[in-house]
Amino acid sequence: MNKIIIHWTAGTNVPNSIDLQHYHYLVDKYGRIHNGIFKPEDNENCNDGKYAAHTGGGNTGAVGLALCGMCGYSSPAKVGAYPLNKVQCEAAFQYAAKLARKYNIPINSAHIMTHYEFGQKNPKTTSAGKIDIVYLPAYPDVKQNQIGDFIRNKIRWYFERL
Ligand SMILES: [Zn+2]
Repeated sequence: MNKIIIHWTAGTNVPNSIDLQHYHYLVDKYGRIHNGIFKPEDNENCNDGKYAAHTGGGNTGAVGLALCGMCGYSSPAKVGAYPLNKVQCEAAFQYAAKLARKYNIPINSAHIMTHYEFGQKNPKTTSAGKIDIVYLPAYPDVKQNQIGDFIRNKIRWYFERL
């Protein structure tokens, strides 16, 4: 595994059966980590169709970590009924640090990114235009284009304390 891609599910604050198919790990509103149906290693080879399809054009070698929520999000003023909360976000950042250690993945923008950032960097994939993650309701001062760095700094902080 050489990448971690961080998502929101665009669902409720708990994983449903479709979410469990699409991500390796899902973080609910209590900060609990749920294992998806597929293991990260299933994404080492995506040609057999048995893998977690979380990032169009970028699934191979990529761990998919999702925060459950943001159904109904349309703008920072209209976040919907399932905003990501701080407990949940911090749990996800800490878990990403554990994954970075487990798989020896560097904590930088080439290896750990949001789905939004992947789409920005890969405009010819179906990930182009993805909005996870363009807003973190629990950290409203962090601007859209700072969120990736904000998350990586959080992951570094947790990594140093593992
Ligand atoms: Zn996504």
